[in-house]
Amino acid sequence: VVYQVYNNFSLIHPDFKFSLEDDIHKSTIISMYRNHLEQVLIILSDNAFKYSQERKEIHFAMSRTSREVQIAVQDFGEGISQEDANHVFDRFYRVDKARSREKGGNGLGLSIAQKLIEGYGGSISLESSLGHGSIFRITLPITNTDK
Ligand code: ATP
Repeated sequence: VVYQVYNNFSLIHPDFKFSLEDDIHKSTIISMYRNHLEQVLIILSDNAFKYSQERKEIHFAMSRTSREVQIAVQDFGEGISQEDANHVFDRFYRVDKARSREKGGNGLGLSIAQKLIEGYGGSISLESSLGHGSIFRITLPITNTDK
């Protein structure tokens, strides 16, 4: 995936590099400020790490359809119940108030991530199983004309 870079903002995390295995799709372009995508990935990675105890492991996966790129960020941590999953993208929502307080944070990260992604015509969703981990999936529209 090639970013359409509109500015000269320096990379926050130079370690993030994205590529799809499939050479055919080398020209896949997402039009998004690079630092915005990084911000979203940092929020998701930070959470994945923060809310995992024994198995602190993060899996990233990318795929695409003819219209969109999908990025999945998976952890194997405490997971989120279905009821809480309906609210985690709300501003200031935190699942376990006491425990979350120990870990810092304001319940803002995911709402910011959602606003950013939706601002580019994409979406962010959550699949989670309490006690087993979570997968956050981002989709972003492909903007090349030759998709
Ligand atoms: P911050 O404002 O620093 O991001 P935060 O982590 O509390 O703080 P959000 O990122 O919006 O805020 O997350 C909201 C809540 O959703 C968290 O408090 C946590 O309870 C839950 N949560 C988010 N990501 C995960 C995850 N990967 N696994 C389990 N729970 C999560």
